[in-house]
Amino acid sequence: MRKYVIMGVQGSGKGTQSQMLADLDIVHISVGDIFRWNVQNHTKIGAQVRRVMAAGELVGDDMVESVVSDRLTGHDWNYGFIIDGFPRNRRQAEFFLETYDIDGVIELDLPDSEVRRRVLNRRLCANCGVDYNLIANSPKVPGRCDLCGGELITREDDTEEALEVRLRDYHEQTNPALDLFRRKEYVVTVDARPEPEVVQRTIRQRLGLPPMAKSADQAHEEAASA
Ligand code: AMP
Repeated sequence: MRKYVIMGVQGSGKGTQSQMLADLDIVHISVGDIFRWNVQNHTKIGAQVRRVMAAGELVGDDMVESVVSDRLTGHDWNYGFIIDGFPRNRRQAEFFLETYDIDGVIELDLPDSEVRRRVLNRRLCANCGVDYNLIANSPKVPGRCDLCGGELITREDDTEEALEVRLRDYHEQTNPALDLFRRKEYVVTVDARPEPEVVQRTIRQRLGLPPMAKSADQAHEEAASA
């Protein structure tokens, strides 16, 4: 069984890279997606986190830890998981290390200037959740998802203001969590600037995983229809 954490600033491609590991039966667990699902479905958790998320701020540790524990007790990850968006600070990292043994931490490295360019041009399919980038990966029909025809929307927290908060939190709070993992020699740092397939190839080489069996498009399509 393989258990990984993927870390990196917003827009560094954590979701895309995690989904590209699906052919190895590694389940992608995105804490942000779990919260977004709760907001969209008007659950009690959704009501508690909506405003915090829209402002780009971090949800409280107790809430995050309970959501992560609940998700990981669902045993749909017999061959392993890759968790994205967690831990975001030192306390969450300590909680995680106490509870789970991990095989590696992937750090996607991207300069802040590139983060701004990517995040402010990011669009998300409201129906299947696939990400588009209006510069590098624009949809064939403007405003519509290539895979399911769903409407493309901007994430509520992909604004200049929220991005500033998220970048600041990443540097102030998430870097210390990474340092903790670094001390345990778990961390593999990968340049996130190249094309997704190149980044994926590097991740697999560095972690000693088999090469990709499918193209990124196929992996995306499967992730979207799952
Ligand atoms: P993401 O999709 O990972 O960018 O997460 C979207 C939002 O969900 C973040 O801006 C936070 O408000 C919240 N969130 C996700 N993961 C965490 C976490 N580990 N700790 C605190 N807040 C989180």
